[in-house]
Amino acid sequence: MKLVTFDGNKIGVIAGDQVVDLSQIAGVDPAQWPPVGMVQFINRFEDLRPQVEAALQAGQGQPLTAVRLEAPLRWPNKIIAFPANYHDHISEMKENVVSKATAKGQGFFLKANSSLSGPRDPILLPPVAGREIHHECELGIIIGRRGRGIADADASSVIFGFTCLLDMVIRGQEERVMRKSYDSFCPIGPWIVTADEIADLTQITMRLWVNGELRQSASTRDLIVDIPSMISMSSAVCTLEPGDIIATGTPAGVGPVQAGDTLSIEIDGIGRMDLQVEAGTQGAHSVWSAPKIATRA
Ligand code: MN
Repeated sequence: MKLVTFDGNKIGVIAGDQVVDLSQIAGVDPAQWPPVGMVQFINRFEDLRPQVEAALQAGQGQPLTAVRLEAPLRWPNKIIAFPANYHDHISEMKENVVSKATAKGQGFFLKANSSLSGPRDPILLPPVAGREIHHECELGIIIGRRGRGIADADASSVIFGFTCLLDMVIRGQEERVMRKSYDSFCPIGPWIVTADEIADLTQITMRLWVNGELRQSASTRDLIVDIPSMISMSSAVCTLEPGDIIATGTPAGVGPVQAGDTLSIEIDGIGRMDLQVEAGTQGAHSVWSAPKIATRA
């Protein structure tokens, strides 16, 4: 199933070229704050599945082209992100190719939840003169069940689904969380594809284009820390909650983006987003004025 958030925090499922509103079935009030409807829906999904399937069969929806898709998740408990997780990207970033420099040795970081944006939202570049802002094409994992200390062998049982994810970043040596947490620096979507639609976690392929030119292309078979290991590593530290997002790291081909660019991300079996890059008016700060060597991920 492809689950969406649309038209002001409504929850829906894709049925062909239609969107079927599940807000009532999910017991979600789109006007509630904080907007945790999808998190609650994911938590109750297995109980609600028969009703969701019945709604899908009934198929009474509105055309997908007539709704505005939003970030499928707005208010997760956390976004966990893995750095330098493909061999070719590490070489590109001129890190030492030893385990210490990889995700296997470095662990993970967090990205602000407020950086989430949706498939129709522009990526807003803050005015940080002299700095490069890069795209990182990533697979996003959506957690479905609470868990701590999850073994590799059990990891797939806590995965709810997958989404396309861009991990935008200002290159430099300031704290990674700050460089990656601007509003709109974590577009996700266009929907969450439930895990039952993805047959093999080691054969998920993704691509990213800038203005139609292919820049990144990879398969999860080339991950250094594979999907089960990401879940066991992160759940060793923190309890994973339904709706948590894991950004799985980017392959080679990262590069600077500019206002006016269109970034297109496509993951086979999941979906595609075409995102506009615009110059933002907010976000200038003197912290960015010091010249830095722009090599760190
Ligand atoms: Mn990344």
